[in-house]
Amino acid sequence: MFDSRPNRDAEVVLIGRSNVGKSTLMREITGHSKFATGGSPGVTTKPNHYDWTSEDFVITDLPGFGFMSGTPKDVREDIKRNIVQYLEEYADNILVGILVVDGKAAVDIIDRHSGDDEIPHDVEMFGFLQELDIPAVVAVNKMDKVDDRDERLDDLAERLGLYPPWQQFDHILAPISAKRGTIQPLNDAVRHHLHEQKRDDLFKFF
Ligand code: GDP
Repeated sequence: MFDSRPNRDAEVVLIGRSNVGKSTLMREITGHSKFATGGSPGVTTKPNHYDWTSEDFVITDLPGFGFMSGTPKDVREDIKRNIVQYLEEYADNILVGILVVDGKAAVDIIDRHSGDDEIPHDVEMFGFLQELDIPAVVAVNKMDKVDDRDERLDDLAERLGLYPPWQQFDHILAPISAKRGTIQPLNDAVRHHLHEQKRDDLFKFF
């Protein structure tokens, strides 16, 4: 189990497969709040915590799950198990769970892994957040690479059990491009959930 968590009351977590742009997004979010990040290149198997003591608030970038070239299967399974345990343990503290996906690739990956005895990671994690009553936002990243935007987003919505049109779920589905710094839909969606929990004081981070 990950044991690096600072003891903070409120938390927002980022989860997602590796290479979806989680670190890029994290830099974008924390950069917006003028927080100097260390940055740790390479495959990360431990969470990165961005900690604001005075606010009693932490944003956690959990390690990427799913296939990573050069990472053996048992290590990947350990990581996923640790992520699940982490979410279970801190569910009461986590105000929003941001599931980051690659907007260009997500639907194809989901479809490739949908079978009788297989649930795709992203679908599983989305469902798991709901099971734990953690408000979920899906940051659909790399939208700069997507041409058929509405069609893609409808397909993804459908795979997640959200009946299209996707625009009905703009507090859940946030099309963004972390690399280009266009993340307003994500900020809006996160704020929606913070507001519902009477935590407008944390708007300054999003
Ligand atoms: P992580 O493994 O999820 O932390 O992913 P990274 O943040 O390291 O990004 C993986 C790759 O995706 C890098 O080459 C990034 O430059 C690229 N990337 C991240 N965000 C975007 C985006 O919004 N658009 C595009 N086109 N590429 C992105």
